[in-house]
Amino acid sequence: MLVILSGVAGAGKDTIRKALVERMEDATTIPSFTTREPRADDIPGVTYNFVSKEEFEKMIDNDEIYEYDIHHNNYYGTSKKFLNEKAKDYIVIKDIDVNGTENLKNILKDVKIVTVFLRVPKDELQRRLENRIDKLSHEEIKLRLNRFDYEESKIDLYDYVIKNDNLEKTVSIIQEIIEQESKLDT
Ligand code: 5GP
Repeated sequence: MLVILSGVAGAGKDTIRKALVERMEDATTIPSFTTREPRADDIPGVTYNFVSKEEFEKMIDNDEIYEYDIHHNNYYGTSKKFLNEKAKDYIVIKDIDVNGTENLKNILKDVKIVTVFLRVPKDELQRRLENRIDKLSHEEIKLRLNRFDYEESKIDLYDYVIKNDNLEKTVSIIQEIIEQESKLDT
C-alpha cells in the first residue's frame, strides 16, 4: 500500500511522515530523487537522493522514474525500483505534491493508494516558513506561498483532507486511517 501525504511546504508532511514511520512497525518511506541542493537538515539517501540535472534526465530517459515534477526550478521524482521493492512488504508513506499524486493515481494500478491532503491556513503557513530552522530566503518563501492556491485547487484528488493544527492529533488520525485502510486491503 502507498500512502501519499500532500500539502504545501510547511504543512508538516515531513514531520508527520517521520512520526508515522516511527510508530508503525509495518510502515516505511522511500526517498525521492531531486536535483535541488541539500539543506542543513537533509541527510543524503534518507531525506532525498541528490543527483545532478544530467543524472536525473538520464533516469527519465531510461524509464526509471514513475513520475516527476519540477518545483522551484528543480526536478523531484519517484524511483520505480525503490517503490516497487518496498510496496511489496510495507506500507510506504511518501510525501508527494499534487501533480505527482495525480500521475501516480493514473499509473499505479496494482498498488492500493491512500491519499491525504494536509491543510494549513495561508497566514499560518507564512509564519511557519519564516520560522523554519533551515532559513529559507525571501524568494524561496514567495515561491512556496505562490504554490498554495494551486495545491488547494487540487484537493478533490484526495481521499482525506486534514487540517494540521495539532501535530499529535494529526498523526493519530492518519495512523487510524492507515490501519483502517489496510484492513480493507485484505
Ligand atoms: P522540498 O524541496 O521543500 O523538500 O520539496 C518541494 C516539493 O517537492 C514538496 O511539495 C514535495 O511534496 C515535492 N516532492 C518531493 N518528492 C517528490 C516526488 O518524488 N515527486 C513529486 N512530484 N514531488 C515531490
